[in-house]
Amino acid sequence: MPELPEVETIKRQLLKEVIGKKIKEVELRLPKLAYFEGFKGDGSTGSPQAAKNFKKNLEGAKIGKADRAAKILILTLSNDYTLLVHLKMTGQLIYRAKNGKMRRGGHPWPPAAVEVPNKWTHIIFHFVDGSKLYFNDLRQFGYMKLVKSDELAEQKEIRKLGIEPFDKNFTVELFSKMLKCHAKAKIKPLLMDQNFISGIGNIYADESLHYAGILPTRPAGKIKPEEVKRLYQGIKIILKKSIAKGGTSSDTYVTLSGQKGGYEKYLKVYGREGKKCLRCGGIIKRIKLGGRSAHFCPDCQG
Ligand SMILES: [Zn+2]
Repeated sequence: MPELPEVETIKRQLLKEVIGKKIKEVELRLPKLAYFEGFKGDGSTGSPQAAKNFKKNLEGAKIGKADRAAKILILTLSNDYTLLVHLKMTGQLIYRAKNGKMRRGGHPWPPAAVEVPNKWTHIIFHFVDGSKLYFNDLRQFGYMKLVKSDELAEQKEIRKLGIEPFDKNFTVELFSKMLKCHAKAKIKPLLMDQNFISGIGNIYADESLHYAGILPTRPAGKIKPEEVKRLYQGIKIILKKSIAKGGTSSDTYVTLSGQKGGYEKYLKVYGREGKKCLRCGGIIKRIKLGGRSAHFCPDCQG
């Protein structure tokens, strides 16, 4: 699963390539991955009619701007519609310029050596200028969803999302209150809960807690004010640095330019089980917590 820095990296590089382009044709090879919600409660999501409406309302539209909400890519179109792209576990986007130059983002399968389109290519955008955008997905959990722009905030993917770490309203005071509201929850699974804060997954939860010196199993309500402040700072510092480096590749993600994310070498605990803590020399441990593995240093995290 990509996390906020990986999706942000794809967004920044998608922006550069598809903004301002006009869609000539949408090729739906696997219509069930194309959702359409033309108006509230029309019940057409995932249906053959939805696929038809998806295609019809995209063709002829220009891509206006690209945004991101947590791990969802959002492309605003020149008509009244907005396209959501959720890569889920194994989604991959490939952009091919008219001159054949490619940019890949998301899951590394299929690798660059495999021709596109291939059997994992489910949706193809043909742009008027001859360039193309391919949506590949090995396991088919990802999807594209076309919605009315003024109903974007009501979509279930968006509506339930917790606050973004970079939202200006996300202050240390708010974070402290949020933790108190979930006093009994263990801090690591809580940080990963997308309804609590959006965009933090396994890697950055482990790294932020190590930064703050807090064990992943600590109840949220037992975290002292100075630790809350450190955790708050850690989340922002680590996410910012990771975005600057193009994300982390250890979670099987590559950036749109096909490069492996560059943050991997900065990881302090994630994927470092049995190695020495870079801060105190303790041995990094890994435990199962909330169905995922948690990495931490038992000596400098308490
Ligand atoms: Zn340590």
